[in-house]
Amino acid sequence: MIFIGFGYLFHCPHCGEATYLALGTGNEYTVQNVFYGNPADPPLIKDFTTRQTYQKALEYLNQNGVPDTKLPGSYGHKIYYCPECRTLKVHFYFSIATEEKPWHPKYKCELCKEQLILAPGQRPGDDPEKFKLIGEDREVLRIHCDKCGKIYFATESGCTSKIHWE
Ligand SMILES: [Zn+2]
Ligand SMILES: [Zn+2]
Repeated sequence: MIFIGFGYLFHCPHCGEATYLALGTGNEYTVQNVFYGNPADPPLIKDFTTRQTYQKALEYLNQNGVPDTKLPGSYGHKIYYCPECRTLKVHFYFSIATEEKPWHPKYKCELCKEQLILAPGQRPGDDPEKFKLIGEDREVLRIHCDKCGKIYFATESGCTSKIHWE
């Protein structure tokens, strides 16, 4: 597993507020740290997901579930979008192989309660630095400004900088 942390910075055309999307994995994101933790620290997925999702993940891990870490980008902070309002959201993606089918966390849009979809270019094995600002149906994705509450097209504002983090 190669740890690559990077982010994209966008600026709201209405109020200038920056929205930073931090993606990928930092240097501390080993399989041990992310899924199992150590005596001093709980697993990172405890902080990165909802309590419910964390409980479910623990259940699978305790029943012989194995984290799927084969492909680059098998876990990490990734971009999701809402099929209804089209806004982007960053959530922690991971997958656990169980006796039935692989399980991965599901996230909902805070605005419309729809289940979020992984953005194109964000699946395990995809080049993690290439995501597209359009959905699978070719519709443009949007950014919800936390400051003024307005929604703008990600492509119009464009990404102003790309930042690496560790
Ligand atoms: Zn929505
Ligand atoms: Zn704004």
